[in-house]
Amino acid sequence: MMTMTNPGAVRPPSPSPSGPFLDGSPNAVDSRIRLHRNVGVLAHVDAGKTTLTERLLLLTGRTHRAGEVHDGTTVTDFDRQERSRGITIWSAAVSCAWRGHELTVVDTPGHVDFAVEVERSLRVLDGAVVVLDGVAGVEPQTEAVWRQADRYRVPRVVLVNKLDRAGSDLDRSVQSLRSRLGVDAVSVHLPVRRDGRLIGLVDLVDQRMLTWVDDELGTAPIPSPLAREAGQRRRVLVEQVAALHEHAFDVVSAGGDLDAVTLRAVLRDLVLAREVVVVLAGAAYRGIGVEPVLDAIVDLLPSPLDAGPAQGWWREVPQPVAPKAEGPLVALAFKVDHAGTGRLVHLRVYSGILRPGERVLDTATGRFERIGRLVRVHADRLTDVDDAVAGEVVGAVGLKGVGTGDTLCSPVHPVVLDPARFAEPVVAVAVEPVSRTDTDRLDAALARLADADPTLRVSTDAETGQTLLAGSGELHLDVNVERLREAFGVAVRIGRPRVALRETITGSATGLVHRHVKQDGGAGQFAHIVLDVEPAGSWDVDLEFASSVTGGRVPAEFVAAVEAGCREALSAGPLGERVVGVRVRIMDGATHVRDSSELAFRTAGRVGMQRALALCGPVLLEPVSQVRVEVAEDCLGAVLGDVGARRGRVLGCEPAPGGAVVVSALVPLAQLFGYATALRGRTQGRGTHTARPHGYDLAPHGYDLAPNGSVR
Ligand code: GDP
Repeated sequence: MMTMTNPGAVRPPSPSPSGPFLDGSPNAVDSRIRLHRNVGVLAHVDAGKTTLTERLLLLTGRTHRAGEVHDGTTVTDFDRQERSRGITIWSAAVSCAWRGHELTVVDTPGHVDFAVEVERSLRVLDGAVVVLDGVAGVEPQTEAVWRQADRYRVPRVVLVNKLDRAGSDLDRSVQSLRSRLGVDAVSVHLPVRRDGRLIGLVDLVDQRMLTWVDDELGTAPIPSPLAREAGQRRRVLVEQVAALHEHAFDVVSAGGDLDAVTLRAVLRDLVLAREVVVVLAGAAYRGIGVEPVLDAIVDLLPSPLDAGPAQGWWREVPQPVAPKAEGPLVALAFKVDHAGTGRLVHLRVYSGILRPGERVLDTATGRFERIGRLVRVHADRLTDVDDAVAGEVVGAVGLKGVGTGDTLCSPVHPVVLDPARFAEPVVAVAVEPVSRTDTDRLDAALARLADADPTLRVSTDAETGQTLLAGSGELHLDVNVERLREAFGVAVRIGRPRVALRETITGSATGLVHRHVKQDGGAGQFAHIVLDVEPAGSWDVDLEFASSVTGGRVPAEFVAAVEAGCREALSAGPLGERVVGVRVRIMDGATHVRDSSELAFRTAGRVGMQRALALCGPVLLEPVSQVRVEVAEDCLGAVLGDVGARRGRVLGCEPAPGGAVVVSALVPLAQLFGYATALRGRTQGRGTHTARPHGYDLAPHGYDLAPNGSVR
């Protein structure tokens, strides 16, 4: 139960101010922070996030007609590819105003391969609206985003959408919130239908009827046929909150009722404490229930002040960053775009006031940067602003070296904010331009994609010289390859996903004698060495080299040349891969007065080593990833079976909040291709996974002959 030390905390919603927020006085700045909301819209694909965001923007007057997803004209889905795919991939932060409050609404993707976008927005949001499809209720992916939001402790309200559809059911959806997510869900609306058509909602808090005619909201007293049911539902609501809130409990147990203002304030307390989830009803596509979503954002979700300090660090000392305008500047770069203006860095200011022209320290790079223009971002256009105060989200133009996750701060108060946790890339493909003349353009385009997306890595394969693009899933890579074509006009060919193999030795050899003697005219070459070779005991080292030569029989510079020769031999072993994990000791040797040279000893080292490797039982090693899979418990069997089929080794299973289980396993990287898709299939989308490099392990016998999904 929540304890309230000060009943005065139950307060009416903030009055709506008129006129400009900022007159420069501390109080005015403070109220500007109090009147700000950063909210995300989270949902399963197709629940109606985009439609809702459009409607929110329409109502707040920033766009003149609602774009509709059907005809691909929506404002937030401005990317052409997104339109053709019909899913929201890249989040767009949109600013708007409602009842004297400034709202930044971030439309987030619902697809797991783009979980990084969701994580990024959760990092900078203070509250979220979760959209459910009123027919399907809680869907597999709602569970995945819900758990992510739990990790970032984001207070939430839920909109049960599409209640105009046949088969929709508010109560069943609320029930699915309770049973599948284990949350205390309280309904504040009762949908009203006439002849089977949704015409409005009863607002149980204010006890009135809300109707929509031609998108216009009207209010009326609750019609008498509904009065009884509405009264009953309101009593249930009041009892639910009284059980969780001390002040409400005191009022109700003394026989009183909660008036609308008190009930709203109690709901706010409980939402902020993440003790209840308030459930709203609507049909965004018909414009029904959208104003109540805006009201809920203002009345129930946290302002940056409510969200409290962010955790920062400097040299391992915690530095809480309080949301104060008069504090030293601290801001987090959470997204980089290459929109019309050139490079645009999206920032959330956590403390202080950011102004154009200011010089700031990027603690990730250690470099100073000067803020150029500051812009408020609407999905389709930008407007210049004079400042951004603690709690606000703003776009900055002119920051060349700032990347996603970097902290910008006052040079005299350096801080690093915890960056969002991003999934490590798990899949890599080789990318090459169809036309050789596009090589430079491809490099430039890849660099820009990687700049905007920290889960995308571009590298050059040291062994093949191919350009590799690595990302968090195949769809992730597909989308980016398509962007190369569409946005940058570079046609590319992609290879099969691949991993890099290694080899090592399993046996040892002592007293191996190698003589390098060449005497065909000119200066001769003479080197005589005796080597002991054995496994180093670790595959993290390439070569451990030591010398037991006594009495100066081989001078130090020639010993060094032998070591260099041995290293050269490691670049390709008897099986053709790079060799790791070898220990070599030079035991003895001999020189020739005239014909010995560093070159001769280096050659002896290289050739002697090549022979030794072939004698010491060379075997192939394959890269292995440590995989963490989070799934609902009822999918555990399927996931474990699949890990086994992929030659994985399960390290352990642990319970996670919300009835989920976390499985840790070591799985060969080559077996992880297609894993994101397979996992989605096996868990109906209710599984998420991360994988990070763990090192190398012995490849199964015959691996090189029948490369199990791997390309050598
Ligand atoms: P998102 O994937 O969550 O962004 O969902 P969209 O906003 O793209 O909506 C998915 C589909 O559902 C689109 O065809 C919408 O027109 C439709 N849709 C959205 N809201 C409603 C609603 O309230 N009622 C009905 N019947 N359809 C809706």
